[in-house]
Amino acid sequence: MKFEALGINKNIIEALHKLNYKEPSEIQSKAIPEVLAGKDVLGLAQTGTGKTAAFAVPTIQNLSKTKTSGKRVIRALVLAPTRELAIQVHDSFKDYSINSDLRSTVIYGGVGQGPQVRQLNQGVDILVATPGRLFDLIDQGYIRLNSVEVFILDEADRMLDMGFIHDIKKTIKLLPKKKQSLLFSATMPKEINEIVNDIMVDPVQVAVTPISSAVDKITQEVYFIDRPNKGKLLLDILKEHEYKSFLVFTRTKRMADQVTKRLNKEGVRAAAIHGDKSQNARQRALNKFKAYQIQVLVATDIAARGIDIDELDYVINYDLPEEAETYVHRIGRTGRKGLEGASISFCSFQEIPLLKDIEKLNKMTVEVNHDHPYEMIDRTPKAKRKGRQKSQQKGRRNNPNKEGASKSQGKKPYRGKKKQNGPHDWSNHRSKKSKGKNKLSKK
Ligand code: AMP
Repeated sequence: MKFEALGINKNIIEALHKLNYKEPSEIQSKAIPEVLAGKDVLGLAQTGTGKTAAFAVPTIQNLSKTKTSGKRVIRALVLAPTRELAIQVHDSFKDYSINSDLRSTVIYGGVGQGPQVRQLNQGVDILVATPGRLFDLIDQGYIRLNSVEVFILDEADRMLDMGFIHDIKKTIKLLPKKKQSLLFSATMPKEINEIVNDIMVDPVQVAVTPISSAVDKITQEVYFIDRPNKGKLLLDILKEHEYKSFLVFTRTKRMADQVTKRLNKEGVRAAAIHGDKSQNARQRALNKFKAYQIQVLVATDIAARGIDIDELDYVINYDLPEEAETYVHRIGRTGRKGLEGASISFCSFQEIPLLKDIEKLNKMTVEVNHDHPYEMIDRTPKAKRKGRQKSQQKGRRNNPNKEGASKSQGKKPYRGKKKQNGPHDWSNHRSKKSKGKNKLSKK
């Protein structure tokens, strides 16, 4: 299908072609005609599906139809959960509207408000905002939402996760009753449904690839490893592969800094992005990563939200996420634009339940790679008993008068529990097909 068939005008198609968009993605084919027709649309799609253009392109076209006189007023408001996503969505609006005379801007916290206020004072048609800064500037009287014709909520489920539900409800109260509402979300928790019922009139629902199967084209591997060895394994993997870009996820900001520091010390070009870094530092790191000036970006989930890098070779879960769905979001950062992606997860003994949740959600088994020198030590009670017995026997053999033996003799690599109910065959998690490129020789 061609963009023309969706009813998109020449100016926008030209802009899309410049970006090398040859044909619409699934969510775009489904949503664009509905949005163009002025309907409220509920889009079930995650990042990487082309959802931004699905709401931005028809919104630009609809707004361009009416010329307004006098000072520009905010006619479209887009709410995004994070600064990175807001910047990215705004960049897309700018790209798609390059041949129109619409003006847009983006506001977010963590930086001085001066330049943002100046932009707003000059008048904008489209405002992309994170909730915190939006309210700040509304309270100070710099923003009025009474002329909004289109209200867009992007990544609504993440907004919810990040505690923005009240801000969303507050925003809705400030909007005119008559408007078009577009809501995009990867999942549909109950609270989102409530918002939909609150603001949408007969919404058309468009859905693409359910979240749990979007990861099919991404290679997934897990290394069972004791926590203290994760740093060494990461270095080995980085050294082994001469790929351009690795996105490494850690659970905490502190860990992101620690990992980055260690990589830098070893001569690996790496930078961390997380909530304690200033917006400018995060953007600088992201730009360097996109330009391949740094090889590794170490990120926490919230900071990484909205990262859009087209040719990402690997996602590494240095720590497994607490929520199984976050795993899908993380590894979905690779394998964009139909490229094959690859993901590697490090799983310590304490993280095994998290891995099981991930496998359950995705109805699959993550392939185990044993080709590394840091195999996890089995701490299951059975293994401990066995180890004790073995070492006692050995101790007696070596010294019939000595009871027991040293602790370390009871250790052996973790091979999984024998009986598990989950989808994983824990009794035999040896890699089924060890791809040469992923192999790490035992040292
Ligand atoms: P999104 O899901 O909106 O974050 O988009 C993911 C990536 O796909 C971004 O890099 C977009 O620029 C790109 N993209 C969106 N639509 C298309 C398209 N029709 N053809 C090629 N790339 C696209």
